[in-house]
Amino acid sequence: MIRNERQYRVTQAERDRLASSITTEEAADGTPQWAIDAANAEINAQIMEMDEELAEYEALRAGVVALTTNVSDLAGLPRALIRARIASHMTQKELASRLGMREQQIQRYEATDYAGASISRLQEVAQALGVTFEGELSLPDDANTSTKVQHTLRTLGLTKSVISRRFFGDDTTEAGWRNALTRAARVFATNYDELLEGSVTQLANAGAFRARITANAEQLNAYAWYAEYLAGCLARACTVDYRPLPDASTLRKELGRVLTDEPLETLVRTCWEHGVPVLPLADAGTFFGACWHLGDRPVIALKHTMRSRDRWAFLLGHEMDHCRNPDAQTVLEQDLDVREWREQPAERAADDYATQLLLGDAAEAMVHVAVEQANGDVAQLKKVVPAVALAGEVSPGLLADHVAFRLSQQDINWWPTANRLHPTDVDAWRTTRSVLFDYVDLTRLDQVDRDLLVDGISQ
Ligand SMILES: [Zn+2]
Repeated sequence: MIRNERQYRVTQAERDRLASSITTEEAADGTPQWAIDAANAEINAQIMEMDEELAEYEALRAGVVALTTNVSDLAGLPRALIRARIASHMTQKELASRLGMREQQIQRYEATDYAGASISRLQEVAQALGVTFEGELSLPDDANTSTKVQHTLRTLGLTKSVISRRFFGDDTTEAGWRNALTRAARVFATNYDELLEGSVTQLANAGAFRARITANAEQLNAYAWYAEYLAGCLARACTVDYRPLPDASTLRKELGRVLTDEPLETLVRTCWEHGVPVLPLADAGTFFGACWHLGDRPVIALKHTMRSRDRWAFLLGHEMDHCRNPDAQTVLEQDLDVREWREQPAERAADDYATQLLLGDAAEAMVHVAVEQANGDVAQLKKVVPAVALAGEVSPGLLADHVAFRLSQQDINWWPTANRLHPTDVDAWRTTRSVLFDYVDLTRLDQVDRDLLVDGISQ
């Protein structure tokens, strides 16, 4: 297909050259006539092809052909956009400047029929050309396509809620599944065909190290892929250079009083200021915290469904220790109750880091005081712990969790009581999310990644 005036002139010149090369006279060198005929036939075929291309371009340019193009599937859209541009007498350069892009980019897009262009980019182009999708450009079987995309994502292990909120963007119309297709292709490093056929294979190989302890490995796996993708986006948008986090005692001393007053917000800011992004997630299930080492920096995710400020602060402290260990693999935190998991050396070290950071040297002493004041009666602890926390200048939720942790080592499940001692006035997810915007530049991401991230960190 001819896409611009230059190509048109080149094609025309080539056509004329070919036409003049057709041999009409008998060859003097004794080449048999059949060979000459065959060569001529070959040239004529090429000329006919060029004539068709030239005619199409001329017709488009002259407005002879009706512009209403019936695009029956996504594959037809790029050509329709190229035709629309030619027909509206807009040069590639003019289109580029309307989109705030360089001419070469449009040339590349058109030369490859917009291969590599996202759906949202195609929409921008369509808009710049004044092409509306009404009627002519709508796809024939939206409901079916939507169902197929949903089915594939379900099969991969994503929950209905994640699919609708994070991939469809809560949009059930055509725009919704276009979003979902584009986003899923990005996240799962696949293409539309695989997604529509339900044959995405990438996830199969990744399961072993990710799904360590879980009843639903598939679900964890798919969500972990998704979360890691968001983590990558957040890392690219982060405006602060990475420098390693200090050890717990140093950091506790550095932060001082503000750590006691606002443990979560202080730690979230500390991470970001060290170039360690903290991703707040609001989806249920799978893991409740994570630490990835992505190229040049670690990224933390927090998604505990109990949005207590203190619970999140401790979890963040724990992940910060994982960040300090660059050799560590991806860590996905799962059930607190799983003993074998909590007793792995790296996990214990991370808990120790968080305890030292948030409770300081007095942590053990406070547990002893609390147990003493409760006369060794677990039932009494509930009343005692908040007072001991107040005296020790730590938040009650932090001390309650530490006591619960110590009791769990004696096979006593005090977690439900500890949960009730957490302050509930602050939504930890909201706090974590609001800090994020001070340290990211979302324009560093393209539209698709930006939308993925923004929908990913929404409620
Ligand atoms: Zn951990």
